[in-house]
Amino acid sequence: MGFIGASKPELFRVSLPAIRSRTRGYQSVPKTFYRPTIVISECLLSAPCRWDCTRIRDDFVRRLRRRVRFQPVCPEMEIDLGAPRDPIRLVQVGDSVGLFQPSTKRRLTGRMTRFAREMTARLKDVDGIILKHKSPSCGIRGAKLFDSASQSARVIARRSGIFAAEILSRFDDYPAEDEERLEKRQVREQFLTRIFTLANYRATERLGRLSGLVKFHSRNESLLRTYSVGMAQRMSGLIEEEVSSRAVEIPDQYGYLLRQALMRRPRKDSIARTFSQALDHFRNDLNWADIGRFEKSLEEYVNGDVSPDVLREIVRIWAVRYDRAWVRQQAFFNPFPEHLL
Ligand code: SF4
Repeated sequence: MGFIGASKPELFRVSLPAIRSRTRGYQSVPKTFYRPTIVISECLLSAPCRWDCTRIRDDFVRRLRRRVRFQPVCPEMEIDLGAPRDPIRLVQVGDSVGLFQPSTKRRLTGRMTRFAREMTARLKDVDGIILKHKSPSCGIRGAKLFDSASQSARVIARRSGIFAAEILSRFDDYPAEDEERLEKRQVREQFLTRIFTLANYRATERLGRLSGLVKFHSRNESLLRTYSVGMAQRMSGLIEEEVSSRAVEIPDQYGYLLRQALMRRPRKDSIARTFSQALDHFRNDLNWADIGRFEKSLEEYVNGDVSPDVLREIVRIWAVRYDRAWVRQQAFFNPFPEHLL
């Protein structure tokens, strides 16, 4: 486990196709992102650390590899179980849950809990977590809980693994998913949006200047209002208070509010409203046919017939073509490098 500790935010740039601006000719508007830091179950990176040493190939994780900083961890290797190893399982013991290796009758609960606590206490600068589905150590959900350690034991529930429970209790408002849920496009989209927004905020926070936070909030205004109007207003109010009291530093509470806001799942009608507000920025430039086509696509999006990517792409093109700096800088229309989805 070669990691842990603060890391310097790292920027990277993604080139977008050139778009013709009405006043400036063709423009290629590159987009920069801060590289998120993701704690990940090491076996999802194809490491031969599973109990039977089989390797996992996960396409989404492979795509992420070049664009995020992974912090891999295999808790079972960390507590010296080695690979290959005999399987371990979660067992109900009175009111609590234990981790056992039935073949050796070893109790592993104490070692795993100690490792998980020590490791999560040292973790810094995390933007998200990806863990292995169903594992008695790493599973966020879906790990089998048995009624005993015997051969004839029955599965009595599904729950999180011992390591997962510990890390999730420390990072309870951070994006955390398993590879199975990340197979769903909508889950991937929300996960990517959250990790890139949090990485961006972490870079802003590191500089510590209120002026930087004002810029961050402005760039994320549409996105935050889509997730939660109430939370976005609280965050704006917090910034206004700080500005009017002539503070220069970022208030501690902002990061908490940001993470809480991003935990909500944006509703379709909120997303449609944000696109509709974007359209208002271009009404004087567009003809009725273009406006009508966009409004029809919006309806189709609400009915599930059109992907939001199509609407995003149209708004991005208009923002460059008609020189709308405010729309162009809104993270909502470019929340993460698209090829990762
Ligand atoms: S699920 Fe977790 S403990 Fe099991 S092999 Fe993968 S990283 Fe290691």
